[in-house]
Amino acid sequence: MQSQMFSSPLNQPSADSVPIIRVEQLAKIYDTGEVPLRALDRVSLDIARGEFVAIMGHSGSGKSTLMNVLGALDHPTEGHYWLEGEEVGEMDVEELADLRNRRIGFIFQSFNLLPRLTALQNVMLPIRYRVENRISAEEREEASIAALESVGLGDRLYHRPNQLSGGQQQRVAIARALVNQPSLLLADEPTGNLDSKSSEEIMEILQKLNRQGVTIVMVTHESDVAQHAGRIINMKDGKIISDGHAKRGNKNQERTQ
Ligand code: ADP
Ligand code: MG
Repeated sequence: MQSQMFSSPLNQPSADSVPIIRVEQLAKIYDTGEVPLRALDRVSLDIARGEFVAIMGHSGSGKSTLMNVLGALDHPTEGHYWLEGEEVGEMDVEELADLRNRRIGFIFQSFNLLPRLTALQNVMLPIRYRVENRISAEEREEASIAALESVGLGDRLYHRPNQLSGGQQQRVAIARALVNQPSLLLADEPTGNLDSKSSEEIMEILQKLNRQGVTIVMVTHESDVAQHAGRIINMKDGKIISDGHAKRGNKNQERTQ
């Protein structure tokens, strides 16, 4: 079961009509200065299962604040957020931990790998918390190896982060984000620290995952990176100022592999 996501038969997006993400009138207000700062200003948005969405906007426009709320890493000051139809604001501590650990994968600009652990150990880390499933150490390792193979790192299992290139480190982070088979992947500037060749490799992996049915929301300020998504949302001053199809669409959509 664990290897399903990483093998080629496509996991078709389900016909389920409940959006994977629905936010209504989200606001995040910081009262640090004389004037309250609206990092998010009444954002409403639906994202359907299977979409690949890019969020763009200048620095300070609220992109990371939105991603942190979507990843349940931060609470909104006002508004509502439903993940797969369930209101996140009403979840208890355990449900929130499960959401962050299992239902959502998060990728950051700075990879956030543990430096003393090997690639394999980094990827195995989130599975540890799945106590309810009582998976064996062997199964955990198998699933983690499959995840690393799916991002082309089957030959780097025992390397530590400082023995890997930036692009390879980000691929380890993607494997770690996917190992619990989340339905939603959030990526905040995943190519922000990478050269253009590594960026292109990361985008190819994200597109492959999206074709396999993973919903992706990705922040970027590079328009060529955003063109890999099917939909581009622009933010300014905490608000959504435009939302539409990408110009070239998902440019590899027609390719079989
Ligand atoms: P982006 O990711 O688009 O660059 P952010 O979401 O990080 O923007 O920030 C949006 C706005 O909120 C910015 O003006 C930023 O300075 C402010 N902000 C973010 N986090 C905090 C915080 N913890 N306290 C006060 N202001 C913050
Ligand atoms: Mg940011």
